[in-house]
Amino acid sequence: MTISRKGFLNTVGLGGLGFLFKGPSAAEAGQTAAAGAARAQARKIKITGVEIFYFDIPLNSPFRISIGTVYAANDVLVRILTDAGVVGLGEACPFPPITGETQETNIIAAKSFRDMVLDKNPLAIEERLREFGSFIHTNPSAAAAYDMAFYDILGKIAGQPLFRLLGGDDYAIETDLTCDLEAPEVMAKAAKSYVDRGFMTIKVKVGQGPDIDTARLRTIREAVGSSPRIRIDANQGWTVPQAIDSLRRLEKYDIEFCEQPVTADDVAGLRAVRTASPIPIMADEALFLPPDAIKLIKAECCDYFNIKVMKAGGIHNSMKIAHIAQAADIRCMVGCMLETRLGLTAAAHIAAALPQTIVFADLDGMNSHTIDPIVDGMSVKAGRITLPELPGLGVDVDPAFLKKLKKI
Ligand code: MG
Repeated sequence: MTISRKGFLNTVGLGGLGFLFKGPSAAEAGQTAAAGAARAQARKIKITGVEIFYFDIPLNSPFRISIGTVYAANDVLVRILTDAGVVGLGEACPFPPITGETQETNIIAAKSFRDMVLDKNPLAIEERLREFGSFIHTNPSAAAAYDMAFYDILGKIAGQPLFRLLGGDDYAIETDLTCDLEAPEVMAKAAKSYVDRGFMTIKVKVGQGPDIDTARLRTIREAVGSSPRIRIDANQGWTVPQAIDSLRRLEKYDIEFCEQPVTADDVAGLRAVRTASPIPIMADEALFLPPDAIKLIKAECCDYFNIKVMKAGGIHNSMKIAHIAQAADIRCMVGCMLETRLGLTAAAHIAAALPQTIVFADLDGMNSHTIDPIVDGMSVKAGRITLPELPGLGVDVDPAFLKKLKKI
């Protein structure tokens, strides 16, 4: 059965309101035509080139966690060029102790990805990532750089900040600052300086054993007082008995949650720790890709997820993980490696898109960087993250800095 417009309005009781449904004005028709042209262009848009750069950022001091030390942020920058004149930016931040990638392995993967994407549509993101195949398992950070650039192009073509395209609205999320592994007094001094800068959430690295880790939390809590929130991260450093012992001893220091107490592949161990722990447990290294999220939910082995763009292979998979978590009523954090504000901004867009599910942020990767070569992007004041109202990621690399980078 077909129904006329007048018939439809009568059916829904709005027959007298037909005057509200006039044809478009000349200006509206012009806008409609422009939007139509943009849509047609988006359907045909092609990648014409990919520039890959060594993107090295020195650190103030080596960054230590329980499973290794990183001496610089040896990242990879990707610029995807299109025939529409739009350029997408992405960053890979390989963190060898966690993802097993290095700058060199990411460069090799990025070159392979370049061959796969040339002349193809950057907006067909699901298909582009499917073509990457199991490269994403072994080179998630390199894949993340491309995925990030695809989403940057999507936002620029749509003329909208990415978090709005992903369903977000104005939001406010707070990031912590991290004390990496040092002697208790050194960490306490760092924690106090963070609080003095207005940060009210401190993340403390642990994982070296119940006695030394208890000394760390005692000293830090004494230095910062009772108000700041403290979360801890063992980075797989404890055995199951050590984790249970440590978490019971640390309860009195008012700990928000503990990330990855035991080794990443020990799901049964994680469940045993969660069952015995008075402190909620967050899976981090146990969670890379969306199927990991399903496995962790089935095992009932954690309270929270730590989603990282560099582990998940980009924004696309990070959003999938967040949606899986949402369906299972698991709250998430967005975390980071040692990204510049380019990669951190990508993560902030995800948090802004799903504020009911992503309720924690650990986006402090640039805290130990000696330089910030990023223009625009997210900013942090006293722990509060804000995103610019610019299309796409809303971020660029300082042209003078870009000129100095070694291109592949
Ligand atoms: Mg962690």
